[in-house]
Amino acid sequence: MQWDYWRLLTVLSLAGFVGLVVGHMMAFLFVAALIYIFWMQSKWNQLQAWLDKPKKNSSPQAEGVIDDVCRQIEQMRAQNSSRKKKLTGYLKRFQSATAALPDAVVVMGEFGQVSWANTSAMTLLGINWPHDNGVRVNNLVRDPAFQKLLELENNAEDVIIAASPMNDRIQLEFKVVRYASKDRLLIARDITQTQKLQRMRRDFVANVSHELRTPLTVLRGYLETLTTESDQELWQQALPIMQQQSQRMHLMIKDLLALSQLETGEKPLQHRPTDICKLLHSVVEDAKRLEHFHQHQISLHCLSEKWLMADADELRSAISNLVFNAVKYTPAETLIDVRWHIEGIFAVIEVKDTGEGIAQHHLDRLTERFYRVDSGRARETGGTGLGLAIVKHVLQRHKAELVIQSAIGEGSSFKCCFPVKSVMDKIDI
Ligand code: ADP
Repeated sequence: MQWDYWRLLTVLSLAGFVGLVVGHMMAFLFVAALIYIFWMQSKWNQLQAWLDKPKKNSSPQAEGVIDDVCRQIEQMRAQNSSRKKKLTGYLKRFQSATAALPDAVVVMGEFGQVSWANTSAMTLLGINWPHDNGVRVNNLVRDPAFQKLLELENNAEDVIIAASPMNDRIQLEFKVVRYASKDRLLIARDITQTQKLQRMRRDFVANVSHELRTPLTVLRGYLETLTTESDQELWQQALPIMQQQSQRMHLMIKDLLALSQLETGEKPLQHRPTDICKLLHSVVEDAKRLEHFHQHQISLHCLSEKWLMADADELRSAISNLVFNAVKYTPAETLIDVRWHIEGIFAVIEVKDTGEGIAQHHLDRLTERFYRVDSGRARETGGTGLGLAIVKHVLQRHKAELVIQSAIGEGSSFKCCFPVKSVMDKIDI
């Protein structure tokens, strides 16, 4: 500021002095003031041009107020640009985070028009950003329940479940959240898996209740009769049936507990070197002692001398289930072949029978809990319907897979395929 006073004072003093010398002081002062005003004006014009296009024009060079203004503006510009960079960084991070979200997120304007959408909005809702910018969401998602949701006040608890417009097997949970004054956020979450799990849980509880109700009803019936009856013959008749039914409940609860332990991972796996041939041999011997064993011809082929790193107890229970099933569900004199061999990248334990076989449409569901091909026969044989579910879980814990092949009239094959890296050379214990 001081610079401007001194500059003006110097110009006016010089003009006044020269004017005094030549005898036209007022005229010289007037001309000097005019020149000064024009000079200042040109500097302000230069400042204006620099403010409009800072990259194209240079800032005015004049000590004093103009220079101070320029410096402050430059400082503000530098601060703004670093703030802008920071905000752009935040925005980019926010956008890439929401883009990576598995949930569809759509920012909607006052009238439900798309203002922004993430990548999942494309896969789940078919909303393509930026192509659908400005298109109303209700033109893209046409489910009536969704239209209703858009008309609501949008409280956080208002949710609807509807099929995805891209794939009607995907179930979505829609939620609309109001933010700022008029904008709204649409969030759609894929709940297909959660719903499937809930359905499985419901089915499981219903199945367990149903399975336990039958033997309990038999037991209750007999108990009620026996409390009023002292007939020896009736007692003789009732006791074995009661024993059989209570044994059935016992087996079911035992299998349920085993399954739950496998699922929750409550019992850690005890991996140790396991002699598969020895294990198979002892399972085959046990199978021969089953009450359903009627001249079945069991052969054991150990085509590999390798051992397996496995939990021997769990593996034994899985293989027993397969071999015992081959005895229980096939007629007398059926050939049952149990073999251990290496097949490419897998080490395989196979239990194959020449029984009646299982129809193709049952195969995918065989490892479901309580799934039975012929429930009458399965109950007769004392089956709980949990055996193959246990096998599947044991194999999963060993990173192995159960492959079932069967054809009516030809028999069935159950292969437990272990990754070959679990195989080891036999050791002397
Ligand atoms: P369970 O414990 O009742 O034996 P599983 O889960 O072990 O039940 O088996 C499910 C169903 O698969 C059985 O009810 C039976 O109908 C069928 N199944 C299993 N193994 C065989 C087999 N080797 N041959 C024919 N059917 C079989």
